[in-house]
Amino acid sequence: MDRKKKSRHRHSTLPGQGHNSRKARLDQEKGSYLKKWTGRLPVALLYPNSYRVGMSNLGFQIVYHLLNEDNRIVCERVFLPDQKASELRSVESSRPLADFPILFCSVSFEHDYVNVAKLLLMAGIEPLAERRSDAISGASPLLVCGGVTAFMNPEPLAAMVDLFVVGEAEPLLPPLVELLCENQNLASRNELLLKLNREKNGYYAPRFYQPEYDANSHFHGYRVEAGLPLRIKKVILETKDRAAHSQLLTPETEFADLYLTELGRGCSRGCRFCTAGFIYRPARLWDKDAVLTSLKQCPDEIRRVGLLGMEMTSEESIESIAEHIGLQGCSLSFSSLRADRISENLLSLLSKSELKSVAIAPDGGSERLRKVINKGLSETDLISAATRLVEAGLFKLKLYLMIGLPTETDRDLHEFIQLVRKILQAIKPFGQQRGRLTQIVVSVNSFAPKPWTPFQYHPFGESERLSDPVSITGTSVVKELKRKITLLKRELSVISNVRMTFDNPEHVLFQSVLARGDRRIGPLLIDMAASGISWKRAMKQQGLNADQFATRQYSENSYLPWRIIDHSISDSYLWKEYCKAFKFEETVACDTDLCRRCGVCND
Ligand code: SF4
Repeated sequence: MDRKKKSRHRHSTLPGQGHNSRKARLDQEKGSYLKKWTGRLPVALLYPNSYRVGMSNLGFQIVYHLLNEDNRIVCERVFLPDQKASELRSVESSRPLADFPILFCSVSFEHDYVNVAKLLLMAGIEPLAERRSDAISGASPLLVCGGVTAFMNPEPLAAMVDLFVVGEAEPLLPPLVELLCENQNLASRNELLLKLNREKNGYYAPRFYQPEYDANSHFHGYRVEAGLPLRIKKVILETKDRAAHSQLLTPETEFADLYLTELGRGCSRGCRFCTAGFIYRPARLWDKDAVLTSLKQCPDEIRRVGLLGMEMTSEESIESIAEHIGLQGCSLSFSSLRADRISENLLSLLSKSELKSVAIAPDGGSERLRKVINKGLSETDLISAATRLVEAGLFKLKLYLMIGLPTETDRDLHEFIQLVRKILQAIKPFGQQRGRLTQIVVSVNSFAPKPWTPFQYHPFGESERLSDPVSITGTSVVKELKRKITLLKRELSVISNVRMTFDNPEHVLFQSVLARGDRRIGPLLIDMAASGISWKRAMKQQGLNADQFATRQYSENSYLPWRIIDHSISDSYLWKEYCKAFKFEETVACDTDLCRRCGVCND
């Protein structure tokens, strides 16, 4: 295998970047595969965003490594070009996309959906899967899509995709690669898809599942081809002896020269707005030895390690990470920490790790609202966590706040402002002692209802549970969210050492459309990509409107397009959790040994 070796490329230019910058990019990477093509099946791995963004995505890197590990495959990366380009070419050998009969695409974020259509159009590939020829070729490739989107709600992309890989790459890619390599002549797309969809869990070919709509233009179920499963069962990694880690390192990413290691997948807490707490069920922690093995593979010259899944990791893992980091002298980085799980071991790890900034996520503004969302964090937990973190040496504390949550009122926002004041008061003595006060950054994000969470039923940004399925508009919700942002800005801007960042509620409205969208979203994405029109104009052109998807109130019996995926979570459980939110009732965290309540651990 020609990993990390010098390249010998036949083609010399990368559009918009030129040969030199492409070569320079490759030269500074660690972990890229430069394989000879003869006798191997060419697979292009697409990322629907720039090189910089894609290279920061651990899931994308895992797929790149898994595919290239198989000697029968040559897998090369293709990103959305940073600059205007007339043609797409692979990073490794600068070949055009037309040289690859198989395309894998890894999609993690709703806002990248339109870029999938852009990539297909740029490469001259028919964007609608059903119009591609039955024979698979470079001109008419097989498009396989994976990533979070495939098991959260694949439908908005379903019109463009031949096959979704529903679940985690580690168990799902090897059987698929086997079948593709066995059928190198790739005679019939339909036969291949039918075989996968019929015989194995975790493979979904949307062409065999035709959506139906009622008189109100609401999704009303699927017409399923005879002999196929009614739903597609998600497949997950069953073992805990492998901790995924960075496979490709380059200074040209959002996390430049940061070696990522997974401590586990999912989250046991079950916050009612959060997809990660539901679609990765059961939450899993990797074995301590697996984490250590992964850390040991960090190249000597990389001095920063990013730990994913720190919110729920065990004391045992923290101890071994501390020991390893102590020996290697690396610094650490985490996405966020759970405020009620900051142990002495963790604090000692933080002080050794040169970390200066950390995030904690109250998410709900008030203690009452944190019960609604099942956050399980009291004001005391948050103040105590902030104080202990600052005492351990942190100079920047990020607080995540979500607005537009069910039942939220201005009182909750005012309680949050008071919380910020109380935290500042509590941490002030430590700052004074060392002559530098800790800054608080409040990051405000609007709530978007996500499939497979208890809040999947709730309208975007609305505080009430509505009796009418569509009685509010996205426009009015956006206006109300902007008012809340202005209120927070006004109140927080007068407090010293506090800074606030916020998202654009318009974008979150579209994100909600995409998150809860059905098969009709595909042509809209193609229109946007083809003519550069806004999403609102594209919706109008397609005879759709945002309120059908984003601000609709679903009931327990509503047909939900994403139910085509089977996560083993019972519908009644999600509905019960939704109803509990309005009674401010909390649910305890997962205990996979004893608990059987949602259906996942019954398997
Ligand atoms: S059955 Fe219980 S422990 Fe298992 S995933 Fe569901 S809630 Fe969590």
